[in-house]
Amino acid sequence: MVDKWHHDINESSSIFQGYLENMFSQNKIGFKISYINNDKQKLQSVNYDHFKSLFIHEINSLLEKRGTEGYEYTKIQDLENGITIIYPKITNDTEYGDSGEFDLYPQTAICPKCHKYIRLKKPEDFCNCGVPLDQFTFVAFCDECGAHYPLDVTSNILNNCPKCKQKNSLRVINWQQADNISSYRVSCTNCKYTQPLVLFKCNHTSRQNHRIMSNKPQNKFRATTARAGAILHPMILTMPNIPTMSESTDKSFSQAFTHFFKQVGPELKEDLLYLPDFWSTLDTIRSFWEKKKVIDIMENSDITNSQSADIKVKISFIHTLISVAYNMVENNRSRELVNRENYGIDEIEECLDSVKNKYLDIREQQGVYLLDAHHESNNDDISPVKSIPESGYEDNGEYLEKLGIEKINFIPDFKLLQANIGIIDGSTRREVLLFRTIQTENKPTVYI
Ligand SMILES: [Zn+2]
Ligand SMILES: [Zn+2]
Ligand SMILES: [Zn+2]
Ligand SMILES: [Zn+2]
Repeated sequence: MVDKWHHDINESSSIFQGYLENMFSQNKIGFKISYINNDKQKLQSVNYDHFKSLFIHEINSLLEKRGTEGYEYTKIQDLENGITIIYPKITNDTEYGDSGEFDLYPQTAICPKCHKYIRLKKPEDFCNCGVPLDQFTFVAFCDECGAHYPLDVTSNILNNCPKCKQKNSLRVINWQQADNISSYRVSCTNCKYTQPLVLFKCNHTSRQNHRIMSNKPQNKFRATTARAGAILHPMILTMPNIPTMSESTDKSFSQAFTHFFKQVGPELKEDLLYLPDFWSTLDTIRSFWEKKKVIDIMENSDITNSQSADIKVKISFIHTLISVAYNMVENNRSRELVNRENYGIDEIEECLDSVKNKYLDIREQQGVYLLDAHHESNNDDISPVKSIPESGYEDNGEYLEKLGIEKINFIPDFKLLQANIGIIDGSTRREVLLFRTIQTENKPTVYI
C-alpha cells in the first residue's frame, strides 16, 4: 500500500535534520524521521571499535540510572556485537531517498470547516467538506515516563457521547485560543453535547511492548506541540578521536585489544592505557620488561624505560606490542597461549584489571588526552603537539596574558567524533534523564 504520509530524505538532510525520531517542521507542517541510511563505506574509515566499549558503558550507565525509577531495560552485555553503529549516509547528488525517510507527524488533522478531528490513516474519519485539512500538532506527553501518543488515545476525543450514547462521536473540536489546550472543548457529532477536552492519566506502561516505563505515581498526560526540541532530545557524546597512529593501524589495534582483553568485561577500554596508574603498575612487573619479545619491540621504538618516556611513546609502544602479538595469534591460532606468554599479554591484562575501576568519564578522557599531549616530544613525528599552528599563526601574547594562560598547544588534524547514543524523552534538566536507546532491528544503535 502506498503511504502518502511517508517521504524519502534526499541529499544531505538526514544529518541536517538530525537523529532518528527527530521531529521537524517545514512550511508549518510537522514531520518525524523514521529511517537513516547507513554509509557502510564511510563507516569503515572510522575506528569505531575504539569507541564501542565507551558507547556501551555510557548507554548502560544511563539506563541503570533510569532503572532506579523502575524503568525496565536490557543491559548491553556483548561488547563486540551488542550495538549497531551507523554512519548516516550523506549524498551530494540528488539521488532521491538515499539518506533516509521521514513521515508526517503527528498523523492527525482538523477540518477547518467542520472542526472534525481526523486520524489520517482512518478513511472513516474523513469529512466531506472538501477543504484542505490543518495538521493537528498537539500530542500527549507524560513527564514521568516520557511516553507520547496522539491525543485521541489519551483524552476524551473520540469517546462515546455520554448523552446520546453514540459510539466515538466526541470528535468535533472547538477552542478559544488555538495554542492553549485548556481552552479546547469536544462536542458530539450527533447531539452537539459538549465537554472540555480532558487528558487522562498515564499508567507508565509502554503501549508498544508493555514494559514498565516508570514506578512513579500515575499522573496526567500533558498536551504539547510536536516540534523539534519540545519532546525529544538526542543524547550526544563528543570526544577526541585520538590520533595515536594512522586510522588504519588504530583500527586493527582496537581489534587486537578487544581480542585479548574482552573477557575482562565491558568496562575495560583501550583508554585505560593512558592512565598513569596503568604504567606505574606495569613498571613494577619485572617479568614483563625482561621478555625477549618486549625488549625487541622496545629497541625498535623510542622507549628505553617506561618512566622516562612520553605518553605518546608509551602508547605507540604498547599498541605495537599488542598488534604484533595479535598478528602472531591470527597467523597461528594454536599458538595463542605461547604468544600471550611471549608478549606479556597476561601481565598487561593484570595491569588493566587493576585500573579498570578508575573509569574515565567522557570529559576526563578528553582531559587525559589533552593533558598528556602537553609534553612536546623531541620526536616530531610522534608528538601530535605543536607550539606553533601549521597555519594561521598570530601573535596572541597580549591575549594570553589577559586570560592568564601560560601557553597554547596546537594539535594539527585534531578530530572530534560525535555520536548519538540514544534519545532523552522530555527535559534534559530532569534529575533522572528519561534516556532510551534507539533500536534498529532490535538492537541498540549508535549514529556517528
Ligand atoms: Zn469537514
Ligand atoms: Zn451525543
Ligand atoms: Zn507515563
Ligand atoms: Zn586507539
